[in-house]
Amino acid sequence: LAANLLAATPIIRKKLMGYVGFANLPNQVHRKSVRKGFQFTVMVVGESGLGKSTLVNTLFNTMLYPPKEPLAPNAERTQTVAIQSISADIEENGVRLRLTVVDTPGFGDFVNNDDSWKPIVENIEARFDSYLEQENRVNRQKIVDNRVHACLYFIQPTGHALKPLDIEFMRRLHTKVNLIPVIAKADTLTDDEVAEFKARILADIAYHNIQIFQAPTYDNEDEETITETEEIASKIPFAIVGSDQVVIAPGNRHVRGRSYPWGVIEVDNEEHCDFVKLRQMLVRTYMEELREYTNDILYENWRTEKLLSMGVAQDSSVFKEVKYGTIVPPYACRKNAVLHEAKLAKMEAEMKMVFQQKVQEKEAKLKQSEEELYARHREMKESLEKQRLDLEEKKRKIENGRPLTPEKGTVRHSGFHHATTGDSDR
Ligand code: GDP
Repeated sequence: LAANLLAATPIIRKKLMGYVGFANLPNQVHRKSVRKGFQFTVMVVGESGLGKSTLVNTLFNTMLYPPKEPLAPNAERTQTVAIQSISADIEENGVRLRLTVVDTPGFGDFVNNDDSWKPIVENIEARFDSYLEQENRVNRQKIVDNRVHACLYFIQPTGHALKPLDIEFMRRLHTKVNLIPVIAKADTLTDDEVAEFKARILADIAYHNIQIFQAPTYDNEDEETITETEEIASKIPFAIVGSDQVVIAPGNRHVRGRSYPWGVIEVDNEEHCDFVKLRQMLVRTYMEELREYTNDILYENWRTEKLLSMGVAQDSSVFKEVKYGTIVPPYACRKNAVLHEAKLAKMEAEMKMVFQQKVQEKEAKLKQSEEELYARHREMKESLEKQRLDLEEKKRKIENGRPLTPEKGTVRHSGFHHATTGDSDR
């Protein structure tokens, strides 16, 4: 029906003869979003000591993580991967952001790290579950989005290749979260080593068919944006240097960086590391894309799978144009069909739920009227019983008060007749 309606409505381009006002729509959307604020959750994964907390502090320019004491070599470590999250409300030019950082201490720190990815997958899925549960509520006004929108995966700066644990983690996670691989502590490698390491990592990622997050490019994008996106993409995996310290750089400049006897590495200098590009990807340019991709693709895929596993049948005969339809690869590879199926499953699940809800409401109503009926019945029965007893009482009194008229053909000698024994007299 929707398709027919669309087909039946011819679209004509018209020139406006004066200001109408809907050009203000983007501002309206903007104002509304600003008022509501944004929720963004980033997960950091990597062995301890790779600079995860430092990078988060550097990215959001806030001391979200207090400085950590390095663990003594013989210190007791926990034996499992823990999941810890910290939330902070931060504000910039009146825009509020509820930032949540999910840390995974213990990951990769044990002798046997085979199942290190498990608690992380479980955590990501639990967040999807919570979102689904909120979506299924009758009142969907205040949905809290705790889903992980991006996962920074810290690769140890070995300069060789990805480790089996890196590959296993990314293989398990890439369909559930926007993966952003970063080379930790890139200041410990030379420029050449970084370039070689990056090439090797990308080759490994391609070989294992791992899907990492790529900034999307749209057909109708302007030159400048396309160049920006390409520049960001060319830096993946980002070689990162983090520091929450201000140091003195040549020219007496105060910069965020790390000071060495041979010089200063500046965090915000694109010649020194890829921090600026990572920030562009994660915060300045593509935060909304990360949120959207999480919602439209990753979450929808998971939801479809979940519904399928619950036995919700799907009809793939309808095709619907989707917004990712115009995106060029690598976005394109997991787009229309999956999204479409997910949407259908969503609709079906919603219909099923509404139906169930209606049935439940009806049942509750029926039960209530049944109870009311019983109550009324009981009341009537009681009042009738009362009436009957009253009448009997009256009858008894009347009968006690006067002699019974003898029946025809019988002669009575016994003065009075007792109501209670009336039957036996007859
Ligand atoms: P986490 O355990 O992964 O959260 O690591 P931390 O952020 O606590 O950092 C561990 C240590 O590495 C600290 O002493 C940091 O100062 C240092 N560190 C953090 N980032 C970098 C970096 O980019 N380069 C170097 N050389 N050291 C770093």
